[in-house]
Amino acid sequence: MTQRKLERLLGLARQLNAGLELEDYLQTLVDGACELTGSEASSILLYEEESGLLKFVAGPAPQRQRLRRLRVPAEGSVAGEAFRQRAPVIVNDAGRDGRIFGVVDKEMFFQTRTLLAAPLIFRGEAMGVIEAVNKSSPEGFTQEDVDTLETLGALAANAIFNTLLFDEASTTFQDMSDLEQKKSDFIAIAAHELRTPLGLVLGHATYLQDLLPQPQYQRHLEAIVKGGMRLKEVLDDIASLESEEGGKTRLKRRNVGLDKVIGEVTEGFQAEAEQRGVHLRCDLPPAALIVEGDAEKIVIILENLVRNALAFTDAGGLVLVRAEKLPGYVKISVIDNGIGIPARDQAHIFERFYQVEAHNTRRHGGMGLGLSVARVMVKLHGGDIWVESVEGKGSNFTFMLPEHAPQAGTESKLFKPR
Ligand code: ADP
Repeated sequence: MTQRKLERLLGLARQLNAGLELEDYLQTLVDGACELTGSEASSILLYEEESGLLKFVAGPAPQRQRLRRLRVPAEGSVAGEAFRQRAPVIVNDAGRDGRIFGVVDKEMFFQTRTLLAAPLIFRGEAMGVIEAVNKSSPEGFTQEDVDTLETLGALAANAIFNTLLFDEASTTFQDMSDLEQKKSDFIAIAAHELRTPLGLVLGHATYLQDLLPQPQYQRHLEAIVKGGMRLKEVLDDIASLESEEGGKTRLKRRNVGLDKVIGEVTEGFQAEAEQRGVHLRCDLPPAALIVEGDAEKIVIILENLVRNALAFTDAGGLVLVRAEKLPGYVKISVIDNGIGIPARDQAHIFERFYQVEAHNTRRHGGMGLGLSVARVMVKLHGGDIWVESVEGKGSNFTFMLPEHAPQAGTESKLFKPR
């Protein structure tokens, strides 16, 4: 092969990744095939699974549209033979060779005298054929032409495969986004529809608590109210995530005394901690810890972390809520010596609906929303939250809140803990 030919082939290979649309690239290849083999025309055909026929996808520019409507059978044509046998086929005297599929010539007002067909092979599979027709020199197609066409065929097969793969990936991605959207919609609607009946259940149960003070009723009513309140928390979590997603969550920032909030939240969980036999303590500095934040949202963050710490710590264990002031920030940690979180799960637990245990085997209730809600709330404050945990030893969930509301757009560069 001459140096000029090799350079031209290399140039075509380089264009494979140049970002051309598939159609344009295949057209470039057939133009190259004509030039490099000294042929009158060249075309590329792809095998169609459904019809079992070979379909033209690139060919001589003026007749391209016409050609695209034509199909060539896999049996009874030279292209079909090259495709089926996964090997090149040369016909140097078409007039005497019965293998030529005449329909194309007739439709295209063309006369095939010589023909070379090479399969498009990718990973051992034939996906189509590249053809060169009517070589200008009288000796017909040579081994060098076969090599050239096979190289161009490999380039075409690569480009086609990449495009198919990309299309498949795009479709899968779209399907997944649609599914995610459907899931969110379903959950939002279900949560919304559950609110009213739940309100009724809780309203009537609390009314009956006043009406029936006898212990045999109180026990049952308490169970109803407790279960109802837990369900309400789940619905609140879903509502928080939903409004965050729709960009509807706004913080009502005021000066919040974090030491006071932490004290109240831990106090609120004392009864549950006692019931579980877990010690719940806080460790606060003597000076007040003030941040410009939304007290209600900070309570949600703390409650979700403390509730988890208690749920995943066995009787006799310890849950400690510690806070300290750093320059410009307050750092709060909820530390437990419970079951810990496997390293592989740690990167995912802040994702929605993620739970370490399988839902049907888990001991602990919940929907895998608590931490994602906590993270949303922390991020809204311009802070950050993370976990350090050792399986079997315990977990330390830490979040940092800026003392002052960050200016718009500065959140991301505030700090990098760890
Ligand atoms: P859930 O409401 O189901 O607990 P979360 O988002 O709050 O959902 O937590 C996600 C998962 O992270 C939990 O299911 C649990 O497996 C794990 N996890 C959270 N906190 C702790 C903790 N303190 N100790 C061990 N595992 C935890």
